[in-house]
Amino acid sequence: MSARYTMGIDIGSTASKCVILKDAPNDGREIVSKALIPFGAGTSGPARVIDQALADCGYRKEDMAYVLATGYGRNSIEVANFEMSELSCHACGAHFLFPGVRTVIDIGGQDVKVLRVGERGVLDTFVMNEKCAAGTGRFLEVMARVLEVKLEDLATMSAQSTQRVDISSTCTVFAESEVISQLAQNKNRCDIINGIHRSVAVRVSGLARRVGVVKDVVMTGGVAQNSGVLLALEKELQTEIKTSPLSQYVGALGAALLAFRKLGNLEA
Ligand code: ADP
Repeated sequence: MSARYTMGIDIGSTASKCVILKDAPNDGREIVSKALIPFGAGTSGPARVIDQALADCGYRKEDMAYVLATGYGRNSIEVANFEMSELSCHACGAHFLFPGVRTVIDIGGQDVKVLRVGERGVLDTFVMNEKCAAGTGRFLEVMARVLEVKLEDLATMSAQSTQRVDISSTCTVFAESEVISQLAQNKNRCDIINGIHRSVAVRVSGLARRVGVVKDVVMTGGVAQNSGVLLALEKELQTEIKTSPLSQYVGALGAALLAFRKLGNLEA
C-alpha cells in the first residue's frame, strides 16, 4: 500500500501553522513537513503556510488524503475536508508527543487554555481566558516592546535576574505602566522581565487550578518557547512541566493526526 498523507492546519489569532504527516510502521505517523507564518486569521498567513508546507516536502494539495483545519480562523480554509476545535487538536497533539499527558497548558497569542486530558489523549474538560490579554503572548509582546527587547531574548535575560521586582498587575495596560515606572526608577531590565514572567505564571496557574493540575503537565503554544515563563509556572504550580521544540505546532499536529482518524472512518 502506498503511503497516505494528511495535512493539519492551525490558524491562530497570531500565527498560522501547518503540519503534513505520513503513515509510519506499526500504525505510527511521521512528520514530513511543517511550516509557520507569523500572521494569523484574516491575513495571507493561512494560504502562505499551506504553500510553504507543501513546497518544503515537494507534494501537492492533491496528494493529501485528508485535510483538517483548526484554530480561531479554521472556517476560512477552503482546502479543508473538516474543521475541528483547537481544544481536541491540542489534546491529541500533546498526547502524541507525551503519551502520559493529563494536563495541557496552551498559551497562544491572544488566549490561554488549560485542558484536562484522558488516557488516550481525548479532551475531558477545559478552562479558557479569552476576554483579555493577561497572561498571553500578546501581553509578553507588549512588555518586550516597552523594554526594547526581542521576544526571543526574554528567557535568557530573565535567567540573569538577581533581584526580585514584582509586577503586581496582570492587566496588560496597567502592567505596561508599572514596567515603565520600574524602568524610570532604573531597575534592571532582567529583574523586571523575571517579574513579568512571574505575573504571567500567577495568572495562568489560577486558571489551571480551576480544572485541577494532574501530571504529566505539558505546555503547548508559542509562549512555551519562553523557558522563563515555563520555569515561573513550574515554581507557581510546584510541578514539572514538559514541552517540546514543536510546542507551537501542537494544534496543527493534532489536526493532522485526527485527519488520519477521519480517514480511517472513511475507509472502514
Ligand atoms: P495563536 O495560535 O493564538 O496564533 P501561537 O500558539 O501560535 O498563538 O503563539 C503565538 C505567540 O507565541 C506570540 O504571541 C508570541 O508571543 C509567542 N512566541 C512565538 N515565538 C516565540 C519565541 N521564540 N519566544 C517566546 N515567545 C514566542
